[in-house]
Amino acid sequence: MHQTHMIINGEQLPISSHRVETIYNPANQEPVALVSVGTRQDAQTALEAAKKAFPLWSETSSEKRAELLHSAADLVRERAVSIARLLTQEQGKPLKNARAEILSSADILDYYAEEGRRNVGEWLATSRGRSVVLRQPVGVAALITPWNYPVDLLSWKVGPCLAAGCTFVAKPPSRAPVAATEFVRAISDAGLPAGVVNVVHGPGGEVGAELVENPISRKIAFTGETETGRWIMARAANQIKRVSLELGGHSPFIVCGDADIEKAAAACAQRAFSNMGQICISVNRVYAADEVAEEFTDRLVHQTERLRIGNGLEDNVDLGPMFSNEQREKTKEHMKDALDRGAELLFGGREPEGKAFEKGYFFLPTVLDRADHKMKIMREETFGPVAPIMRFETVDEAIKLANDSNYGLAAYIYTSDIATGIQAAERLEAGGVGVNINNVMDYQMPFGGWKESGIGRELGHYGLESFLEIKHIRLGI
Ligand code: NDP
Repeated sequence: MHQTHMIINGEQLPISSHRVETIYNPANQEPVALVSVGTRQDAQTALEAAKKAFPLWSETSSEKRAELLHSAADLVRERAVSIARLLTQEQGKPLKNARAEILSSADILDYYAEEGRRNVGEWLATSRGRSVVLRQPVGVAALITPWNYPVDLLSWKVGPCLAAGCTFVAKPPSRAPVAATEFVRAISDAGLPAGVVNVVHGPGGEVGAELVENPISRKIAFTGETETGRWIMARAANQIKRVSLELGGHSPFIVCGDADIEKAAAACAQRAFSNMGQICISVNRVYAADEVAEEFTDRLVHQTERLRIGNGLEDNVDLGPMFSNEQREKTKEHMKDALDRGAELLFGGREPEGKAFEKGYFFLPTVLDRADHKMKIMREETFGPVAPIMRFETVDEAIKLANDSNYGLAAYIYTSDIATGIQAAERLEAGGVGVNINNVMDYQMPFGGWKESGIGRELGHYGLESFLEIKHIRLGI
């Protein structure tokens, strides 16, 4: 069976030196890998290693860092097939999506290799003297990530962190640490100095907490639940640490009366059900204009019926299992609450039948009609494959409903009138808005949340800046 070792100071720790846990496949409960579980002490040792490596790495030229990051990206691509297979086995997503995740993570490393070379300063001559502004690496970073995109979301942090000249300790999710660790191993194998990249496994409340609380870490880059983010921000406040938090979402999808309904329905199905709805920018709430609601609903159901469900390792699968039984139970609970309060079940709402599905956490993608804001599903993050539809009369009303949320990560609007689209985009309270497109992620652009969806931005040059401190040098000349 595959063995997943922690990496500290350039060494893979023997698995026998720690408590070992087995990771199971959510599609069939078969064992996937053995993982060594770290402790607070391991987190401290890894932080010490990252601290020791920081002076050398931060003073390495940006060209050299770029060269090493490009080599790391190449190595990730070379190993993409095997890492993707492990990702599907531990997380459940179809192999084609797992492969896309690994390749996109390699692209992120390439992108930041070049972005790091553009970390230029400023020079200003004033009547009061001369000034130089430098952007310098913040120091040792703790990178803490969740299970839904364990490699991609780590690459969003690793790329800018290394390009900025920071060293890091990563803590992947306890229940899906395998592919993420392989990703970091590939980077380490590309020839980075010992201690620049480190991975520690173990419970968030112990190993993650140490990474947040230990004075060695100067920056916390976190993706996960809003509640965990709140805790991290409060703890980091003690030492005024830099934090970037990518947290929960509850994205609205508005279908205007003049929208291309076929296109909107296909886009909605894809963004609501992909990765079994376990994406922070998934469609969670659909608002359809009265005059097109029937047609849109029919087409959405039609799109949903066509999705093929199965073990992600099989060919032609669109949707794998959910990640865990807890996720599936939460989805069922939100669905039941909606049905009890008057929603209408149009498709799904149960586990698929058949021997192939008996042992996994499978669930049918689900479409609900007649939803409203009294239902949990319209107010809380379900993180499951459900598209609840609510009808509206005017675009103004739809925007008010969309903004009636504590979250503000992504929002989508479909309309054939570009003025309506732009005006709505300006008024929607979200870090990213898709107008006639169902994805707000482009790695050259900023990504992050408003309100309780987070603070700070990842990706683009914004991602690099979050690992840099600004210094003003005033010259008495
Ligand atoms: P969690 O917040 O439970 O866990 C995320 C990571 O934090 C894990 O590695 C976890 O470790 C660790 N952790 C838990 N407690 C602490 C702590 N006290 N101190 C430090 N680290 C800790 O999130 P999930 O894994 O359940 O991920 C799902 C959530 O992630 C959803 O809410 C989703 O919306 C959000 N998300 C946000 C995205 C965004 O970009 N905004 C993107 C993707 C997901 P362990 O695994 O050991 O518990």
